[in-house]
Amino acid sequence: MNQHVQHNQDAAPRVVTRADHTVSRANISRNALKVLNRLHQNGYQAFLVGGAVRDILLGREPKDFDVATDASPEQIGELFRNSRLIGRRFRLAHVHFGREIIEVATFRGGADDVETDGGGRILRDNIYGAIHEDVWRRDFTVNSLYYNIEDFSIWDYTGGFDDVQNRLLRLIGDPEARYREDPVRMLRAARFAASLDFTIETETEAPIAELASIINDVPPARLFEEVLKLFLKGSALSSFEHLRRYGLLQYLFPETVACMELPNAGSFRDLLRAALANTDQRVEEGKPVTPVFLLAVLLWGPITQRVAAIANERHGPVFWLHRATDEVVEGQQQYIAIPRRLAAPMREIVCLQPRFANKGPARVRRLLGHPRFRAAYDLLMLRIAVGEEDPALGEFWTEAQNEPVEAENPEEPRPRRRRRRRGPHRRRPRDQDDG
Ligand code: ATP
Ligand code: MG
Repeated sequence: MNQHVQHNQDAAPRVVTRADHTVSRANISRNALKVLNRLHQNGYQAFLVGGAVRDILLGREPKDFDVATDASPEQIGELFRNSRLIGRRFRLAHVHFGREIIEVATFRGGADDVETDGGGRILRDNIYGAIHEDVWRRDFTVNSLYYNIEDFSIWDYTGGFDDVQNRLLRLIGDPEARYREDPVRMLRAARFAASLDFTIETETEAPIAELASIINDVPPARLFEEVLKLFLKGSALSSFEHLRRYGLLQYLFPETVACMELPNAGSFRDLLRAALANTDQRVEEGKPVTPVFLLAVLLWGPITQRVAAIANERHGPVFWLHRATDEVVEGQQQYIAIPRRLAAPMREIVCLQPRFANKGPARVRRLLGHPRFRAAYDLLMLRIAVGEEDPALGEFWTEAQNEPVEAENPEEPRPRRRRRRRGPHRRRPRDQDDG
């Protein structure tokens, strides 16, 4: 028998009344409530949907609040002067309240009206519909629960309410077709399984390994956005392990995976695990996290491996490191588009590593003042922790940071920009010159 959650247009929802669920207005942001109430007062249907309902049912604090309504984007725009219409694949409204944005989407219509490419991938999806159509267009049953502001009940068409209780991640409809429509759903499966600590239901899980490669049909810029959600939301380590287990990681970071699989890659794997755990720890403590450091760590293995491969007698190690970094970053860009504003500092973190070996006072002062010093130092300490570098070097730089900063002494000779080189090769990439 077919176990898929079948799309049944005529089915009525299971309505879970307020007394029978735990979603309270106290858990919903005031701004989201404003949006819901104003839509409702103007005669529209208004539901809180998606991750917020799911998370509140799980006793977790929602990250953001999504609203679904039968008002058209234009009608939403008229009701909220603080709104902007956005989106290409489907249009929706962002209602702005200072830093908080409430995303308001018009119910989407039946899947038959969707424009797809040859492989079934959704290109455009702007046909509006009713709630009983919208519910089937969502990804997982637990993301398809609708909290009705009219009577505070939850409408469940797809069985998501029970799946939340059973901590099961189940795709709506035929899993293979839904992954082909939007391969990002495979990444979302890994992410939700990791962050919610859910089990991926058998049929939802089954096609992933085989279909994994189609995530490379997704534009690299969108994949980068997904990578941020995977690694900066507090469950980076678990997400990473899920991606690896389902064979997805190799289509996001192919060289990283290749490097992890080498027989002597134990220290690189340890380095990765430590960095991911560290990032999760920072999120947990409410500290800021940036993808720059993680990207540097993810590519560190491939870069050092490339250095070893291109090392020859004609150029120095610093030159090799720059070239290897450029090549690895360029290769990586074909899979996930790392914006330049992040790629540049990431390169610096990597390429500063050899400079820790130089303990001359002027060099030390200059490196301490480098805008990327702290992140580069963090990478150094990770490398030391996995046995790649001498612990004494870490102690030196830990102490160097604690010493009072002396004023720059104009008498002290600065290392000249154009020093005598040992070899015949004078040209070196510009940013490695620390003079
Ligand atoms: P998060 O906690 O990360 O915000 P979320 O479930 O709210 O999780 P969003 O990306 O904010 O995820 O999307 C909101 C809702 O939109 C989802 O819950 C889901 O119902 C729907 N949705 C998002 N992405 C997709 C997709 N690729 N395919 C189908 N439905 C989607
Ligand atoms: Mg959300």
